[in-house]
Amino acid sequence: MSVNDNAKFFLRPDDYEILRFGGISTKDEKNGIETMLKYYRSSGLTEEQLRENEQRYNIDQMFRMVKEYFGREYGYYGEQIALSNRYQRSINSYVIMDEERDQFVHIDELFESSMMSFFLVVFKWSKEFYNLETYGNCFLYLLFIMNDVCILGDIPDAESNEALLQIIHGDVQIMNLASACYWTVVIFSLAHEVAHSYFNSAGRKFSDRRKEEFEADAVAYHIVLKMIIDQSRLGGQDKVLEEYTYLAPVMYMRFFDLFYFTDRVLYQTRITSNTHPLPEDRIGHLFAIANDDRYDFDTVDGNHLYDGFLDVYDEYRTQLVLKKERGKLNKIIRTEKRERRQKRDEQSRSQTVGL
Ligand SMILES: [Zn+2]
Repeated sequence: MSVNDNAKFFLRPDDYEILRFGGISTKDEKNGIETMLKYYRSSGLTEEQLRENEQRYNIDQMFRMVKEYFGREYGYYGEQIALSNRYQRSINSYVIMDEERDQFVHIDELFESSMMSFFLVVFKWSKEFYNLETYGNCFLYLLFIMNDVCILGDIPDAESNEALLQIIHGDVQIMNLASACYWTVVIFSLAHEVAHSYFNSAGRKFSDRRKEEFEADAVAYHIVLKMIIDQSRLGGQDKVLEEYTYLAPVMYMRFFDLFYFTDRVLYQTRITSNTHPLPEDRIGHLFAIANDDRYDFDTVDGNHLYDGFLDVYDEYRTQLVLKKERGKLNKIIRTEKRERRQKRDEQSRSQTVGL
């Protein structure tokens, strides 16, 4: 296989160095913890607990777990795959499989911050659907995530993070739900990328790229569901994945759906791809897997969470169209910046089609 074939997402091999080491790290751990504490101290959260959480839940740890499960389930250890996690202004994750050099999976800092805030805002909105203030704030913040973060590629700054925490208002339940779903999505997308590398090393060929994407989703979802089932037997302290998060990968697809929908409404951009299936088709495949009898666990809370999620999903779409028609979104539309990004995407031929 030529080097070019191995570079997923049409990234030119020359970009390797830039991709592997490019981007910046925008994390400010100390400030992050202080901001969190300000809002959560009243509910009894301590700095020690926050640091403990960091130790247990972090992306390197999740990557180790994913590899462990690949070894166990598929006999593939992926020892040569490294993790890259910096800010490259893209919410997409991807894998680079270059036979000459080490392989790596990239998961952008922008992805982390947008997914986490996405879950926070959507669950808060769903919980307090009839509270007009929450409703309004959550709509605006979701619009900000879609427009500024996903479409235009700006990473939320300290001020917007603070605005988010004000909306969440120390709601510990929402914080827990969002982070639990977030980590399930991290596992899913890491496993999806490792699956590409596994197919490659096993010499598996697909008749078209879409088939490979569905298959990578299937492998990734299998790993997520296996972990959930294995961990359902563990006590609270050792549990990393919660049962009620089992539809988080579907919500992740819907996140992309909302991103493309917003792009279409605000900028008339139609994202097409001849390599990646649309989120809607991928969702259908994921549901078929989740409903397979061999995955037996308690789905009641997970279904409930997803129902609430869907209410917000529909409401956001309806409101977005209404507000656009009434000219209420003119201020946030930045066509020039959108066009610049589009040009850049075309140049690198990496049309922004997730995962
Ligand atoms: Zn893929």
